[in-house]
Amino acid sequence: MSQSRFASAPPPTATAAVATPRFASGREAALELRPDQPVYCFRPHVLAADARAFVEAFPGKTAYAVKTNGEPMVLDVLARAGIAAFDVASPAEFAAARAAAPGAELLYMHPVKAQSDIRLALEHYRIRATALDHEDEVAKIVRIVRALDLDPEDLTLFVRIASKGDAAYELSKKFGAAPGHAAELLQRIHGIGIKCGLCFHVGSQVEDPDTYARAVAVAAEVRAAAGVPIVALDVGGGFPATYARNPRRPAPPMPPLDQIISGLMGAVERNGFAGTPLVAEPGRVIVARSFSVIVRVLLKKGQRLYINDGIWSSLSDSWTGKILLPVRHIPDPARRHRPGRGAQAGGRIEPFRIYGATCDSVDVLSRPFYLPESVDTGDWIEIGHIGAYSLSLRTRFNGFYPDTFVEVETPFEAGDAPEGFAEPERRGGVEE
Ligand SMILES: *Cc1c(COP(=O)(O)O)cnc(C)c1O
Repeated sequence: MSQSRFASAPPPTATAAVATPRFASGREAALELRPDQPVYCFRPHVLAADARAFVEAFPGKTAYAVKTNGEPMVLDVLARAGIAAFDVASPAEFAAARAAAPGAELLYMHPVKAQSDIRLALEHYRIRATALDHEDEVAKIVRIVRALDLDPEDLTLFVRIASKGDAAYELSKKFGAAPGHAAELLQRIHGIGIKCGLCFHVGSQVEDPDTYARAVAVAAEVRAAAGVPIVALDVGGGFPATYARNPRRPAPPMPPLDQIISGLMGAVERNGFAGTPLVAEPGRVIVARSFSVIVRVLLKKGQRLYINDGIWSSLSDSWTGKILLPVRHIPDPARRHRPGRGAQAGGRIEPFRIYGATCDSVDVLSRPFYLPESVDTGDWIEIGHIGAYSLSLRTRFNGFYPDTFVEVETPFEAGDAPEGFAEPERRGGVEE
């Protein structure tokens, strides 16, 4: 954490050397700081609670997926909350996870890796588990194992199987071996004397428990075809976080995490994996609730709001249009005269089209924010549950790079209810 990222205030924790301003709520932070730049509100208590909740619900090893949010402040809190394994994919992620949690296990679950990164992982970071979906990747790994004179028995190679799912973000098209190919890879790995695992990743924000059950069934098919011992089954990530529901377009409620995990565990037992050690790689479900961002309305033009954030900063995770971010209006108390009816109560809730900070014409959210009609230039909007894939996907496009952090003690949804629903951008396809 570099000092320049924080305004001055007392230290947030005993171990953090740098002061982070602390507030009870996002509203309090907005009213006190009156920020013109986006301000990230980090909620370490919420993060620790959500991490513990996952670890308690999942009967296996929990390896946090660092790509979801690899900020040092996040990894520190996770390590202190008892996360003892991290799913990492690059040298920068090896270093970040090792720095936050020197004793933690690193699982290198990227199926397609640079030869030099494999060497760094095995030699310097002493990583002993990785994933693959092709025989050429086996050859790359074996070359390094031989060069370093490692015992193949110390290594576990997880064969990633292709899976079909209904995630908001479908990832199985990019990686994964078909069942017959996966079985051949397992036999090849077993033949070299390396331990065999199976893994899949069904996508992100998976709200249908059957998606995991189908993937576990494919894993059982692959195990049967290969006929070699399987030392671990890694069920990947994808566990859903809580977002807003659009009240104007009712959708079935999201199944709670317990229900998704019990569905998964039913499939694990039915398919004969009850005795196999399990691994999960959750990202979104652990970190989503732990950040909000306070943005400012730079200009109101009728039903349009121009804000100081957008798809190239904190709101790019929303490109599928499937996630509804909750929002809260924070009126500027310095502004006493407001247009519209019922100014005291904020007025009717109306849809506002949201334009981002950059000059890029695609930097506009496809769906409106529902906010009181009295919202105006100079007001703030707190956008909740943006901890996953927001900070990690910020760009410096057009010179805008939000990087101011405060700590907030209460959850986003505590206190007065968020007023509207941010229904974010479908990248490339703007509606309305
Ligand atoms: C991105 C990723 C994860 C985390 O996914 P979430 O949907 O955030 O839980 C886990 N495993 C792999 C292999 C990934 O690529």
